[in-house]
Amino acid sequence: MSSGTALNPYVMAQQQFDRIADLLELGQAVRALLRQPMREHHISIPVRMDNGEVHVFRGFRVQHNDALGPCKGGIRFHPEETADSIRALSMWMTWKCAVVGIPLGGAKGGVICDPYRLSAREQEGICRGWVRQLAKDVGPQCDVPAPDIMTDSVHMLWMLDEFEAIHGGRYPGFITGKPVGMGGSLGRTEATGYGIIYVLREALKEKGLAIADTCAAVQGFGNVAQHAIELYEKMGGRVTTVSCWDQTACSAFAVRHKDRIDLEQLRTITDRFGGIDAQQAQELGYELIPGSEWLSDDVDILIPAAMENQITAATVDRISPRVRFVIEGANGPTTPDADKELGKRGIVTIPDFLANAGGVTCSYFEQVQSNINFFWPHEVVLGRLDTTMTNAFRSVSDLAQSRNLSLRDAAYVIAVDRVARACKDRGWV
Ligand code: GLU
Repeated sequence: MSSGTALNPYVMAQQQFDRIADLLELGQAVRALLRQPMREHHISIPVRMDNGEVHVFRGFRVQHNDALGPCKGGIRFHPEETADSIRALSMWMTWKCAVVGIPLGGAKGGVICDPYRLSAREQEGICRGWVRQLAKDVGPQCDVPAPDIMTDSVHMLWMLDEFEAIHGGRYPGFITGKPVGMGGSLGRTEATGYGIIYVLREALKEKGLAIADTCAAVQGFGNVAQHAIELYEKMGGRVTTVSCWDQTACSAFAVRHKDRIDLEQLRTITDRFGGIDAQQAQELGYELIPGSEWLSDDVDILIPAAMENQITAATVDRISPRVRFVIEGANGPTTPDADKELGKRGIVTIPDFLANAGGVTCSYFEQVQSNINFFWPHEVVLGRLDTTMTNAFRSVSDLAQSRNLSLRDAAYVIAVDRVARACKDRGWV
């Protein structure tokens, strides 16, 4: 989360945008339009808690840009959420949809709360309250929410139910990440994690490497990280360290195995939001190390799949000389200073809004299926996801090579250019 101006994710997102606006020689009006969100909603959500008292939670929905289609983006539950992190994330959603070529804009939502300290009933109250406050500002034709950090299909269904109660009808296209059988798409749960690995596979291929010859350290053990590990291991890769959040100690720690972690075993000692039980992990033979040490592991690939601001000017020097790839599963895990340093060291960084676009791509598939009320088989969803991610990676990589750009800059050039053109074609600027 943001701590001071230097690491404020919104400042970072704007800095990244400004560089690309210069590269594309964008005019003043389109720059002004794209460097900030078009609309912001800040809301109060009163919820009667289990102890009988009413607690008022603060929530947000920030709609960055909808030139390419209805806004799209997740809703995060986090105790340290800020308006600026949501603003940054809404911008990144716009670029994410644009870079994979799906007809959607960018938005993000959040609520300042700690799900670890809330009962299911209290969380339901927050979900329903969020929708009540925003029922006129979101919807299948204008802004379609989805899960994100510490929200899942259960939260999405409560939100859908509230939206449908308010509007009097069935609107399964209002939200994505719903449970399968209730308008959800097969493959949506694993889509973000799998998408990361499809892209990684392509990046390795270009260097003549195969996943089976690599090992990785992962930060995070939530839905995204777990599914990335699942596919990475299926393709023969080996994960040695996983870092996660200890909600009791309010700090991160990591589990390391001398050979490889056992994903299925770790899953049995992990809570719904990705917290691993440290004591049980130790009993199973894992070494417990400080949370930030995942970064110093002697591996080929680092996969930050937790939060913003993890690879910074202060931590980048700790990366082992062996590391050749950083694939950003999280949004905004690398600060611009650290990014430059990675480039100097010849490390290939696959940027967040390309690497983790599998989630929103599958959300788009879910939206399509929900709207036509006809659902595709699992292999069709994953096949289309693989094709979309692979094509997006290739376009970015081709541009990077032909114009001598980093993958991040190339991805930005493609995305910002598409959105800027849509704004111009609509006659907005
Ligand atoms: N929360 C995910 C993201 O950051 C998915 C968004 C969506 O599916 O709309 O990309």
